Amino acid sequence: MALIVQKYGGSSVGTIDRIRNVASRIKRTRDEGNQVVAVVSAMGGVTDKLIAMAREFGDNPAEREMDVLLSTGEQQSIALLSMALHELGVPALSVTGRQAGIRTTGSHTRGRIDAINSDYMLGCLNAGNSLVVAGFQGITNDGLIHTLGRGGSDLTAIAVASAIGADVCQILTDVDGVYTCDPRVVPNARKLPEISYDEMLELASSGAKVMQSRSVEFAKKYGVVFEVRSSLNDNPGTMVLEEHPDMENVVIRGVSIERSQARVTIIGIPDEPGMSARILSALGDAEINIDMIISNIASDGYARHSFTMHANDLGRAQAALKPVLAEISDQAKVETEAGIAKLSCVGIGMRTHSGVAATMFKALGEAGINIGMISTSEIKIAVTVDETRIEDAARAVHEAFHLDEAPV
Ligand code: ASP
Ligand code: MG
Repeated sequence: MALIVQKYGGSSVGTIDRIRNVASRIKRTRDEGNQVVAVVSAMGGVTDKLIAMAREFGDNPAEREMDVLLSTGEQQSIALLSMALHELGVPALSVTGRQAGIRTTGSHTRGRIDAINSDYMLGCLNAGNSLVVAGFQGITNDGLIHTLGRGGSDLTAIAVASAIGADVCQILTDVDGVYTCDPRVVPNARKLPEISYDEMLELASSGAKVMQSRSVEFAKKYGVVFEVRSSLNDNPGTMVLEEHPDMENVVIRGVSIERSQARVTIIGIPDEPGMSARILSALGDAEINIDMIISNIASDGYARHSFTMHANDLGRAQAALKPVLAEISDQAKVETEAGIAKLSCVGIGMRTHSGVAATMFKALGEAGINIGMISTSEIKIAVTVDETRIEDAARAVHEAFHLDEAPV
């Protein structure tokens, strides 16, 4: 008998019929002799609707009240799924974040799980019940409701699995697992049997949105092995775990793309200490996330900085930079370029293999695709290309590393 945590996302519980399907799946897992703790999201679209209603009262509704409001989405789905389980004769109990003993710190709408007192959950399980736990919510030491940031049910599932010492943690979703690239872009993309936490994090931060990044960080920190698999079929999914030596035999695990990027270049920056900090602080204060940063000295002796960001942030970035640049020098100017996309190659094998960047750039060159900016980390090489060519670029690079073929 295994203790299994199964996380079902918003689309898996999006309608009454789908809730019934989830209930059958839980019943089946139970009939196979396992104990089941399901962690569920709000029904698909519900959280967005609640946010839209809150915005009727202004752009910045009180965050304390947002948490009270948004946590109701998950409370609907845990109660409904429990009822669906009762219909099948399964003893099931809905469990809110508070009942699950999920303690949070941090601020409203961005709570962090600090500790879980699992006594109540373990008591209910030992009495023979299956549990249906509300994702995305917890309570502070003062008894206030916190939510955990968008997509936070993933985090709840991983943390609950760790707290109750689950044997298996499954993230059941509408994709079959983690692929070498988005199959809608690269039709011969292959489902990966396994991937390391670090690769999963790099792919997530580069645009492959399978799971909330914070939940993967949490899993890495506490060593929670989990599987991403489909809630609609029984195909094995992708195991996400700490890297092991065999994993380095593969040079590139996957390729991800991120569209709607923009580049901002600032020219005419005096080549003096403190300039970069002033520019980046202005963007940071405006809560603009920047990604790649490149800086160099032009022949005129002034420095130039380029960075990428989401195209939606471009207007705000220009507004935030204007006053700082006026202060810095009368030579400083901003140039912007939208319509670019980012392509990233990720793999821990890069640490021990050379020539990876050369292979990637050659593939792009042969496909006639021009590279804009380049950035690297220990396990990632990312480039920007014209957005109209991003799909060709992904296919060319996927092909160059033979990602469609299972490694031998
Ligand atoms: N319902 C929340 C959201 O939509 C949490 C989750 O789905 O994981 O972000
Ligand atoms: Mg969701």
